[in-house]
Amino acid sequence: MATVNPATGETVKTFAPFSAEEVAERLSAAVDAYHEHRTTSFTHRKKLLLTAARLLEEEQEDVARTITLEMGKTLAASRAETAKCVKAMRWYAEHAEGLLADEHPAEADVADSGAVSVLVRYRPLGPVLAVMPWNFPLWQVVRFAAPALMAGNVGLLKHASNVPQTALYIEELFRRAGFPEGCFQTLLIGSSEVDAVLRDERIAAATLTGSEPAGRAVASTAGDTVKKTVLELGGSDPYLVLPSADLERAARVGVTARVQSNGQSCIAAKRFIVHAEVYEPFVRDFVARMSALTVGDPTDEGTDVGPLSSEQGRRSLEELVDDARAHGAAVLCGGGRPRGLTDGWYYEPTVLAGVTPDMRIHHEEAFGPVATLYPVADLDEAIRTANDTPFGLSSNVWTEDAEERRRCVRDLEAGGVYFNGMTASHPGFPFGGVKRSGYGRELAGHGIREFCNATTVWQG
Ligand code: NDP
Repeated sequence: MATVNPATGETVKTFAPFSAEEVAERLSAAVDAYHEHRTTSFTHRKKLLLTAARLLEEEQEDVARTITLEMGKTLAASRAETAKCVKAMRWYAEHAEGLLADEHPAEADVADSGAVSVLVRYRPLGPVLAVMPWNFPLWQVVRFAAPALMAGNVGLLKHASNVPQTALYIEELFRRAGFPEGCFQTLLIGSSEVDAVLRDERIAAATLTGSEPAGRAVASTAGDTVKKTVLELGGSDPYLVLPSADLERAARVGVTARVQSNGQSCIAAKRFIVHAEVYEPFVRDFVARMSALTVGDPTDEGTDVGPLSSEQGRRSLEELVDDARAHGAAVLCGGGRPRGLTDGWYYEPTVLAGVTPDMRIHHEEAFGPVATLYPVADLDEAIRTANDTPFGLSSNVWTEDAEERRRCVRDLEAGGVYFNGMTASHPGFPFGGVKRSGYGRELAGHGIREFCNATTVWQG
């Protein structure tokens, strides 16, 4: 458990993992906090969450520097991530009560059941374990924590081992905002300890954002112990460019969509599926823009793309690109480590053409600034290519044609379809995937209800 600066490879600070006794104490504290917190009013929780939002807003610059130090995204990106968390906290503070208001079934059904009255009340579940990744180390946690705390649940965070300072900051933030001791705690534990924590009967449910193997491990323990889970796993989102697209915007936004968070985002556009009619001009512009990005120190304001978060992360990406090259892919730009940046885990923005199903990158998630190109003859082939992946998180389509939009909404196998723009989550819209991108939804009313007990209250 350590902060290792990805821009230099230097170990900045190490942390001792919690002992079994410390973990047990925190589990007990979570249960105690839950019994108090579940009975508090929405007005009270709202006040606390708004205080947390205000503190985070005031501390934005320090928090952004910690994020950049621990995982290497640019300072501008870390500031934007922090601002997004403030917004989501305020959104849930404002909307939670309405989203969880009692529901009243149709009068005909109430009468048919022989009841005088029936209502559905959303009650909290209890302590929820959140296993979270480093790529949006604040946002991934807040998008779980804000709705969970507003619903009356309490949280235990097992964060990725390379972002311990961010993990400890979040615990402190909620404590300073006034949430009772134990309401939101960080567990400094390795991934091998997750199974035992999740099996503990004091844990009611779990949410995980991360890789498929991690999701599978958590889901199988949860299945074994019959606990609710939400999984947000990887993605290999398609980015369709059709003949009526504004090509200049599609290329410009496509670059941002691919290299956000230094290319390490589940909802980054990864596979660029381009109609033959516009393939050549789109690719020319897109490759020029990818080549023009400034790779370097993420604390320099002029940097577009910082290092990858870990040595292992860069090795995995290099293996994917090398495998594609060995099987005949053409490297249109990048394809290696940038010259002159020898200390950190940098990788050049890269565009690959001629990608075929026998290449690993066709089926696996490229977690770094590497785009793949697929020319297609028509919309049918575009949709077939888009769906030819184990993942189904989100999708992007550039078109002005209403019939093409209708087809895409009907046929793309993904949790989102974004037209003429890039996928970006918003607290007001549900977020999540299908296929091996996971299940369940975060954000909006869907997200807050995932960890609620929808209770039927029937009165005769
Ligand atoms: P992991 O899935 O390994 O890490 C995410 C979180 O899960 C961390 O907290 C990690 O803890 C924990 N974890 C890992 N294995 C287990 C397990 N068996 N049981 C319980 N918890 C576990 O992601 P990596 O950082 O290793 O990245 C690997 C790949 O995963 C990436 O290349 C990318 O494809 C995908 N990924 C997707 C993300 C997304 O946003 N959907 C985010 C991050 C990665 P610890 O750090 O201690 O290992």
